[in-house]
Amino acid sequence: MFAAAIQHRTRPVLAQIIPIRRCNLACAYCNEFDHASSPVTLPVMLARIDKLAALGVSIITISGGEPLLHPELEQIIRRIRSHGAIATLISNAYLLSPDRIRALNRAGLDYLQISIDNVEPDDISMKSLRVLERKLEWLARDAEFAVTINSVLGIDVRHPEDALAVARRARSLGFNSTVGIAHDGSGQSQALPERQLRIYRDIRRLETGVFSFAHYDRFQENLVRGLPNQWHCHAGARFLYICEDGLVHWCSQQRGTPGIPLADYTLEDVERQYAIQKSCAPSCGISCVHQTAMLDQIREDPRRMLQELIERRRASEPDFRAPLLLRGIAWMFLDNPAIQKAFVRVLGVRR
Ligand code: SF4
Ligand code: SF4
Repeated sequence: MFAAAIQHRTRPVLAQIIPIRRCNLACAYCNEFDHASSPVTLPVMLARIDKLAALGVSIITISGGEPLLHPELEQIIRRIRSHGAIATLISNAYLLSPDRIRALNRAGLDYLQISIDNVEPDDISMKSLRVLERKLEWLARDAEFAVTINSVLGIDVRHPEDALAVARRARSLGFNSTVGIAHDGSGQSQALPERQLRIYRDIRRLETGVFSFAHYDRFQENLVRGLPNQWHCHAGARFLYICEDGLVHWCSQQRGTPGIPLADYTLEDVERQYAIQKSCAPSCGISCVHQTAMLDQIREDPRRMLQELIERRRASEPDFRAPLLLRGIAWMFLDNPAIQKAFVRVLGVRR
């Protein structure tokens, strides 16, 4: 994924695709579901996956609605993996069972993200730790894919401290934990109130991996303090959002633009969208698009990115020293351009 992102400046890296808009829940803050629509048929979904692979997409995230409601989800995942792309799934986890987890293992799922909003269900959200506890234990026991539990701050929950309890439980089960910032219906996020900001910092301190995007998320660090980000959003190019009708949109909160059918989407469209400046960018809270922008920074200025990554880690852990492996990688790829070129050529041959 890194190799492909580095090799091609404008090619799509990440696509989010919707196999079903229907959801079994109705979170009060959500504008991405209905209670009626049918699943997209399997042949149509497979054709869309093939088209994304032909455009060079490296990571395909299946979301919804609730994607586990799709009766042929595992075949969609298999198709993603058959192209050598990374298959990820965003789910509320209500429909998980030991059998379904094993089916996802067999299909080759790489990564599952579950959002949990509170400890006890309420009228805002039923995505609750207590309700999902059993499913999380099954996942810890049986899942062969990586699991991340995401909690969201900035939504109107009664007990924002629940986000920290969710993150701690996730870590105790061996999962990753992340914290997101709520956005409105046009993707815009606002500063967190002081109490939530403290919880945000506490959750961030639970992060341990050196390479985690969480350590490097300057976008989110600014947004939680109400500061705008100066960046060029490459949605429609580096990131594609494919709705249930098979149209390409900038992202989940800017549906309608460009609104071109995926079947007709070309690399010329990608180039065109790459160049467009989006007025919604400064306060944008769509973290998956931020991540593609971070990949671009790795591509354009890897040394600075690495330095920032380490400095941010030191801000929360003053004794932190970059591991030997990381220093070795920096020597190989930053100090020796010939090795970097060979690496990209070998790992980037899929395109
Ligand atoms: S579970 Fe997810 S898709 Fe369903 S209503 Fe809640 S946030 Fe929306
Ligand atoms: S800046 Fe990009 S990702 Fe953010 S809301 Fe606008 S189009 Fe979507």
